[in-house]
Amino acid sequence: MIRPNLQGLLMALLLPVLATTGCNQSNSAPVSPKAESSPQSRQLKVVATFLPMYWFTKAVSGDLANVEVLVPPGTEVHEYQATPKDVQALAQADVLVKNGFGLEEFIENTVKNAQNTKLKEIEASNGIKPLQEISPVVKRAEKVDNDHNHKAGNPHVWLDPVLAIKQVENIRDGLMAADPANKGAYQANAIAYIQQLQEIDRQFKQSLQRYPNCTFVTFHDAYPYLAQRYQLKQVAVVEIPEDQLSPTDIQKTIAAVKQYKVKALFGEPGVDNKLLKSLSQDLNLTLRPLDSMEIGPLDPQHYFTAMKTNLQTLESACR
Ligand SMILES: [Zn+2]
Repeated sequence: MIRPNLQGLLMALLLPVLATTGCNQSNSAPVSPKAESSPQSRQLKVVATFLPMYWFTKAVSGDLANVEVLVPPGTEVHEYQATPKDVQALAQADVLVKNGFGLEEFIENTVKNAQNTKLKEIEASNGIKPLQEISPVVKRAEKVDNDHNHKAGNPHVWLDPVLAIKQVENIRDGLMAADPANKGAYQANAIAYIQQLQEIDRQFKQSLQRYPNCTFVTFHDAYPYLAQRYQLKQVAVVEIPEDQLSPTDIQKTIAAVKQYKVKALFGEPGVDNKLLKSLSQDLNLTLRPLDSMEIGPLDPQHYFTAMKTNLQTLESACR
């Protein structure tokens, strides 16, 4: 487990939210009149793997489906281990929504164990061209670390609003196919959310075009799609957030800062990494938090809140 203290704290904060916002709504949840009048009056049961997939699914489904999230919103998806509860949720679900590109390493076995032949799977990244290289600038060490290996390409597509639109469309199409009676409502909900994604893309474009090739160092290889979209340059020296930077990580950071005109170091929000802080001071660079949205609240609108904060962070770094 990474960052056990933070995780514990986050869970303590989030559990009441989980209990009250109905991430795990029972069948007593209000069923919309439309669903009641349809031939299959039972609410569609949807399971999303982790936070952004939950947001996009919930935004499209509204109250028409009962949407659950497997990876608790205070837990990292990268090293998540499935629980018996997850198997049970999948055994009872109609639809599974996953990001794909190898992010949800736990899901294949969990689906197998659930033995649900009726389960429909929606892979939100379907049709998206993956960026294969783990770190576009600094090459990864040769050592193969199976646990941390994004075999199918970098999975962090949701951080590019344009690719997020594609993910929402895939989810919309999957829900419409699974629950044709509510097609129109899924379509309308998707249009509203996509409009917001288009607006956030417009804001990113407008603002960041002033800083072409602005280069930043990250300690989580989460931003290659975002960087490509807005002509920025991510130098990821660490692939997945770690508790401690290794001496190699430090050397790679110093080398990257020497080699490129690095504008900022980006760490994880809410993590007080003292080593990273003192390293940034030594390098005379500001350490700022950039949010990969793998952890956060359940409200689908939080995507836009976090993206706006990320845009402000990028603006102040690249200026
Ligand atoms: Zn990640």
